[in-house]
Amino acid sequence: MRAPPAGLKRDALLAVCSLAPPLAAGACAWCAQPLPPRRRSWCSDRCGDAFWANHWFSVARSAVKRRDRYTCRRCGARAPKRPSRSGFRSESAYKSAMRVYRVRKRLERLEVNHIVPCAGTHATLSCAHHLDNLETLCPACHKEHTAALRPGAAE
Ligand SMILES: [Zn+2]
Ligand SMILES: [Zn+2]
Ligand SMILES: [Zn+2]
Repeated sequence: MRAPPAGLKRDALLAVCSLAPPLAAGACAWCAQPLPPRRRSWCSDRCGDAFWANHWFSVARSAVKRRDRYTCRRCGARAPKRPSRSGFRSESAYKSAMRVYRVRKRLERLEVNHIVPCAGTHATLSCAHHLDNLETLCPACHKEHTAALRPGAAE
């Protein structure tokens, strides 16, 4: 995972973010509670984590999949489960199950869709990644969704 950029950009975003309270000196930038000693932006790691989970896509993506229980929100498809070694009698049976799993994982990997399109801001700190703007989709539903967005698409 790439390290999120820090500093000014974050504060500029907090100033316009609909989820964040108005910036105030000495207050947590996420929940507005007074900052404990030696804390500078967030009252707790939880608030910092919540900020990143709503603004940095690689963090948001895993948070959304977890929230949606690794299930496509439209058709209910689930990500394939990784076989566990204890479920197999022999090493070779386990190994062949793992081979199948790796192929399925590549083909059926769940994706995370921006409900309001994020317009190329995947790699930037952005309010487009608010968790309520994200949904877990299977590749088929994601493709369908993206095709419907294209100008000139039917429906
Ligand atoms: Zn806080
Ligand atoms: Zn689906
Ligand atoms: Zn925001």
